[in-house]
Amino acid sequence: MKAVVVDAINEFSVQEVSLDAPKTGEVMVAIKATGICRSDLSVINGTIPMELPAVIGHEGAGIVQEVGPGVENVEVGDHVVLSFIPNCGTCFYCEHEQANLCSAKDNANGFMLDGTARVKRDGEDLRVMTLLGCMAERCVAPAISCVKIDKDIPLAAAALIGCGVMTGVGAVLNTAQVEAGSTVAVFGCGGIGLSIIQGARIAGAKQVIAVDTMDSKLEMAPGFGATHVVKGEDAQEFILEHTEQRGADYCFEAVGIGALMQQAEAATRPGGTCTVVGVGNMEDQFVLNPFTLPLFGKRVLGSMYGGCNPKRDFPRLLDFYRTGKLDLDGMITKTYSIDEAPQAFADLRSGLNARGVIVYD
Ligand SMILES: [Zn+2]
Ligand SMILES: [Zn+2]
Repeated sequence: MKAVVVDAINEFSVQEVSLDAPKTGEVMVAIKATGICRSDLSVINGTIPMELPAVIGHEGAGIVQEVGPGVENVEVGDHVVLSFIPNCGTCFYCEHEQANLCSAKDNANGFMLDGTARVKRDGEDLRVMTLLGCMAERCVAPAISCVKIDKDIPLAAAALIGCGVMTGVGAVLNTAQVEAGSTVAVFGCGGIGLSIIQGARIAGAKQVIAVDTMDSKLEMAPGFGATHVVKGEDAQEFILEHTEQRGADYCFEAVGIGALMQQAEAATRPGGTCTVVGVGNMEDQFVLNPFTLPLFGKRVLGSMYGGCNPKRDFPRLLDFYRTGKLDLDGMITKTYSIDEAPQAFADLRSGLNARGVIVYD
């Protein structure tokens, strides 16, 4: 089968690999759609450290093709969205309603939960991103990473729930818990930022201010619920002007740049909430002021995977999709074949798409 393999930093290509059958507690999924996410690019360019070679892809949906022993939550023929965090149900975090931090993944180090590989290249073990490696025609995933969905949902739309849309909408509804009637500012309007904008619309925000440096992103934002758009350099003043000089009730950083997190925190009103969603470089810094942080009573939150419980929240988001509250089809700006993966990443870099999606025959 074909898979997108990263061999070294900034070296990736579409390659022929083999896939072993699923073992106990595992599922083989015929992938139907894979979203092109900035985190895939972060593995390629080394921002997210990962031992290589590895198959990337962590935002996918498909059809269960084979199940290993002991699998009870899905069966052959089921449609599933893959969760990039497994959901074991028994670890500390799962038991404390923080399934987005499930610790089942912690010892995998790029292999399956039992420490062995399913993907091989000429006999060599290949690692996979987030226990999935779903930028491939098929993948073997832990059953606890598979969430069954209704078959009427198009799988390309469903794939987006697996990372970007869940991360963005969940940051609004679960992490920040945006209240109706509030003012929300979103710094960075890529796939995650646009999903945050959609989440703000779902939450009933009165003003949703989209901030980006690229005109192409700002042009897309109103279609997803932004009421105002502003270029990055003018954002601070613009947000103050639109909030009687207080700052926004809720700010979100959706890129992963320390300086932008700083701007988002500064643009949050006293008593407001600044939520950091973008994953930045480990060397970068985001500084909180020891005088103003308590004085202004701002809440500064990190949001991982939209604070989601995949089993609860994937179907919830797909209900929003079904009732027209969440636009997934409009997020898919362009589809690609797996052979076109290099072009898809070039388009991601140049900011062309809300989301590019690889679809498979
Ligand atoms: Zn992602
Ligand atoms: Zn767990």
